Amino acid sequence: MSIYLDNAATTPLDADVFNAMTPYLLNHYGNPSSHHAQGRHARQAIEQCRATIAGLINALPEEIVFTSGGTEADNTAILTAVHGYGIQHVITTRFEHHAVLHTLTDLQRKGLIKISFIKHDAKGNLNLGHLEQLLQTHPRSLVSVMHANNEIGNLNDIAQIGDICERYDALFHTDTVQTIGHYRHDLQKLKVHFLAASAHKFHGPKGVGFIFCRKGIHLSQLIHGGGQESRLRAGTENIHGIVGLTKALELAYAHIDEHQQHIQNLKNYMIARLSDEVPGVTFNGNSANADQSLYTVLSVGLPELNYGRNLLRCLDDAEIAVSGGSACSTGSASHVLQAIAAADNKDHVRFSFSKFNTRHEVDHVLEVLHQIYQTLAA
Ligand code: PLP
Repeated sequence: MSIYLDNAATTPLDADVFNAMTPYLLNHYGNPSSHHAQGRHARQAIEQCRATIAGLINALPEEIVFTSGGTEADNTAILTAVHGYGIQHVITTRFEHHAVLHTLTDLQRKGLIKISFIKHDAKGNLNLGHLEQLLQTHPRSLVSVMHANNEIGNLNDIAQIGDICERYDALFHTDTVQTIGHYRHDLQKLKVHFLAASAHKFHGPKGVGFIFCRKGIHLSQLIHGGGQESRLRAGTENIHGIVGLTKALELAYAHIDEHQQHIQNLKNYMIARLSDEVPGVTFNGNSANADQSLYTVLSVGLPELNYGRNLLRCLDDAEIAVSGGSACSTGSASHVLQAIAAADNKDHVRFSFSKFNTRHEVDHVLEVLHQIYQTLAA
């Protein structure tokens, strides 16, 4: 029995999304910049997608720019603030994805910005009083804080952070790659200037996403070439990807409460079983706290296996796909687990769920874990 519990790394494509995409690969293959009927059809489809996405998140169509995914959206937001708006100070957290952290450290290395990190407690909760102090000494900063962390699942209060940023005239970027399609976002209420999203985290295709850029802010162009995306992002549009992204977001919003309940129930069930049956189990960050944690992610510290055996490897051998930290940091210690000083005498496993997972699968994972630890004890 093969089980996929690595949905924070990527989600399987929904069959309805695939069906929506195929006509744009096989039949409507026109270049959206072409002036003939095929081109016009493609252009119309893209603009329809932009309007649909804008409608779902209560934004304006012109505030949505399609990108190759979350990484490009994060890079574009940060580089716009620095190159387009002369920002020299960025306030962020130790928990951001490398799409944010590596972009910032590169800018710092080039002498273009100084980075300040918001203090946090041992669970990874941000100290928003410290954010205010930083903004008092550096008003006109960029604040880059993710909505939910991809490794431990901590949720940050981006509504409150937006209010704080507004008081200090700071630009606010939030990476919502793990939460778009899983929570409702209302861009009329949320005081963000930039927001990043990626289709493959909510059963859409890989290699496509979007950046929301608040009306009045001019995006700096990262990729130069043709005049696509209102001259903000060059390159022939990934039309089937954009259609897939839109269908995936529509489906996600149509069933958002039902899926949230199903997945939260699975997560609660796994927390209960692990707590009852695995002595010494711990939960990283706010992972076990339903109100402060992404319902799709459960980050667990399990007793370390002796004799050099690797728990992730044992689970992989049993056809259970999970991650140690984030998939992108495979092979190196997770900066997120380090930031919360997660116990180093534990094997840390991120189980991440989707609407396709079942209670039966969680039962099977527990059975396999029992076998692994029993073999060890024998
Ligand atoms: N930000 C977060 C929080 C993520 O989890 C990811 C993907 O793992 C990204 C950004 C990068 O998104 P993409 O894979 O679409 O480039």
